[in-house]
Amino acid sequence: MQNIVIMGGGVIGLSCAFELRKRGHSVTLLEIGQCGGQASGAAAGMLAPYSENLEEPDEFFHLCVDSLRLYPAWQAEIRHVSGQDFEYTNSGSLYAVYHEADILALEGRLLWQRAFGSSGSIVEGEELRRIEPGISSEVKAALHTPEESHIYAPHYVQALEQACRNTGVRIIENLESVSIVDWHRVQPGGAQAALQQHGQGMGQEPQRDQAQTPSREIAVRSKDGREFRAERLVVCSGAWAQELSGTIALPLPIYPIRGQICAYHNAEHTVRGMVFNNQGYVVAKDNGTVVCGASEDVAGFDTSVTEKGIDRLRKWNKRLFPSLEREIPFHRWAGLRPSTQDGRPLLGALEASEQIVFAAGHYRNGILLSPVTAKIVADVIDGLELPSYYPAFAPERFSHMVLR
Ligand SMILES: Cc1cc2nc3c(=O)[nH]c(=O)nc-3n(C[C@H](O)[C@H](O)[C@H](O)COP(=O)(O)OP(=O)(O)OC[C@H]3O[C@@H](n4cnc5c(N)ncnc54)[C@H](O)[C@@H]3O)c2cc1C
Repeated sequence: MQNIVIMGGGVIGLSCAFELRKRGHSVTLLEIGQCGGQASGAAAGMLAPYSENLEEPDEFFHLCVDSLRLYPAWQAEIRHVSGQDFEYTNSGSLYAVYHEADILALEGRLLWQRAFGSSGSIVEGEELRRIEPGISSEVKAALHTPEESHIYAPHYVQALEQACRNTGVRIIENLESVSIVDWHRVQPGGAQAALQQHGQGMGQEPQRDQAQTPSREIAVRSKDGREFRAERLVVCSGAWAQELSGTIALPLPIYPIRGQICAYHNAEHTVRGMVFNNQGYVVAKDNGTVVCGASEDVAGFDTSVTEKGIDRLRKWNKRLFPSLEREIPFHRWAGLRPSTQDGRPLLGALEASEQIVFAAGHYRNGILLSPVTAKIVADVIDGLELPSYYPAFAPERFSHMVLR
């Protein structure tokens, strides 16, 4: 059993906390705002590795498919432990194309995706319209993938938080800031050297007597001066994880990419399931709404919703479902996807210090990737065998970049 501090209470931090607690570790989760208050609560909730990976079965695709496979058991456990539902819906998906020439590309995708668990097929004409009667007559064909599912993300995050609380994870919210103040770095020769950084910008002394704590522990401090010590720190601070770059002397190219998204009432049952095209997606939720997303804006940490952004979504939506043109979105919101330089998350312990384990930068797929991330993080901490693709997500892979 290890003492573990988790930095960040989005879907990734909560999933890691739940899995680690389940395996018997003592877990404290620290959140500067509120759990689920950032990207995770804003997500559309699609569990769609086949529709999100169009090119080739690379390591990222394997990670995504492994997570989709874990979902049925994972979501059942979260529902059971939390006592809360979050509309896990095995709807399948359609990926729509508008030109005959694009059908060839769909066939190519289908070929390799079948080798990795998809029972997909290309649907056209009557069959396509039987699945989605309201789809535009402009749509020539679609790749139907029965394995893809979706959940209602805000409720999923709430259920995860409840499941964590029910199993004894200590959750502390509204901390405003949390930073690493003491950690141990393995020097190239193998020796351990203590690297101390004392509360820069905090203006307060730690409340705990450091002489009482074993030197192998890592320490983080919150704005109110509280200090939390643990054997491991799991960094799950999403788009904010880049802030640690200076502290650990490692380039962490994680950037916020704003996603604007909106919802319509689906009173006429216009949309039945989950439909993508090359510009966006629409998903029918059990609560009688259709969620339509999402823009990809470079806007720093700004989560405002713009007329231009929503107008663009409305243009895409009507190319999929013309009757949506008559509808006005009743809800518009935005979140900050944690994007990395290569689009893949940072997963695993630092070479320079096993104390620090990264689980950040899940970009467009953090909801999908939550079970597999929790499993990998817990396996790293428990010293268990890791999947062969694990090295592709090493947090050090950007170390050649210049540290700013
Ligand atoms: C519009 C939109 C639609 C999306 N749709 C989907 C989808 O359909 N399917 C899918 O799989 N994914 C989707 N995503 C992506 C998904 O939401 C993200 O990948 C996922 O939420 C990332 O989770 P996270 O926990 O890493 O980040 P976050 O949810 O952003 O959580 C990070 C948390 O860390 C906290 N924090 C920051 N710094 C610190 C610190 N120093 N100490 C403590 N806490 C800190 C923050 O306050 C925040 O709560 C979507 C995203 C958006 C924006």
